[in-house]
Amino acid sequence: MPETNVAFITGASRGIGYAIASALAKNGIDIAGIDVNIDELQSSMKTIRESSGRSTVAIRADVGDYTSIESAVEEVNKTLGKISILVNNAGITRDNIILRMKDNDWDDVIRINLTGTFNCTRAVIKGMVKNRYGRIISIASIVGLMGNVGQANYAASKAGIIGFTKSVAREYANRSITANAIAPGFIETDMTKKLPEEVTKALLSQIPMGRLGTPEDVANAVKFLASDEAEYITGQVINVNGGMYM
Ligand code: NAP
Repeated sequence: MPETNVAFITGASRGIGYAIASALAKNGIDIAGIDVNIDELQSSMKTIRESSGRSTVAIRADVGDYTSIESAVEEVNKTLGKISILVNNAGITRDNIILRMKDNDWDDVIRINLTGTFNCTRAVIKGMVKNRYGRIISIASIVGLMGNVGQANYAASKAGIIGFTKSVAREYANRSITANAIAPGFIETDMTKKLPEEVTKALLSQIPMGRLGTPEDVANAVKFLASDEAEYITGQVINVNGGMYM
């Protein structure tokens, strides 16, 4: 058991990140929400604090910028205490077929999704090693396992998260730090609202459960991986996809 139960969650203002923050708070964990959109983040953290009775902080930081993440970690250590759980959730898409993909579309997605995961992990890992305890949970994607037309940048970033997670798991297993990835299928959030109706229809026909996932479906898997019951699970990719990819 950790001395303090504090989760550092990126992209926590809305969507899957918000659902994860709410679920962990309901489980007795204090929440440090990190996002680039500070207004929405502050109001989300307030809602969580009032409904769960846990302490929360809202910090504006860009996961793609190591210095801003390093200061966010210091602030959390001072305000809430030692970070026991890291959830690498912040992510973006910049979809296009490879022929039309701009340098920026590639670079931004890799910087935020993959380098962001590296930045947050290296900013918290020293403290976790010292505490001999840590849970690192990174949100990958079904697309990182299957590939997808128009998402070469996103698929590469998410497949990279999986290789990164397995390496973290091997490096820190002997310090009681676990590292796992979750690969959601298609989940109802602002990210998937952007999809044209015919694409959503085609997707639904490929999901044996016949529905998109909810942010809570993903949050439930995070809650389990962050719990004591999951202490012997490391280096794994948990699919939360209604059977779309097995
Ligand atoms: P979302 O609704 O777009 O929310 C993502 C959050 O991350 C937003 O609040 C966003 O802030 C924040 N963010 C973006 N860039 C950031 C940065 N550089 N630093 C800090 N925060 C940043 O996305 P979602 O659907 O909840 O997805 C969450 C994660 O799940 C992502 O990693 C995504 O790739 C993954 N995922 C989603 C699905 C799905 O179907 N939705 C499926 C598989 C995997 P802004 O307000 O500025 O945008």
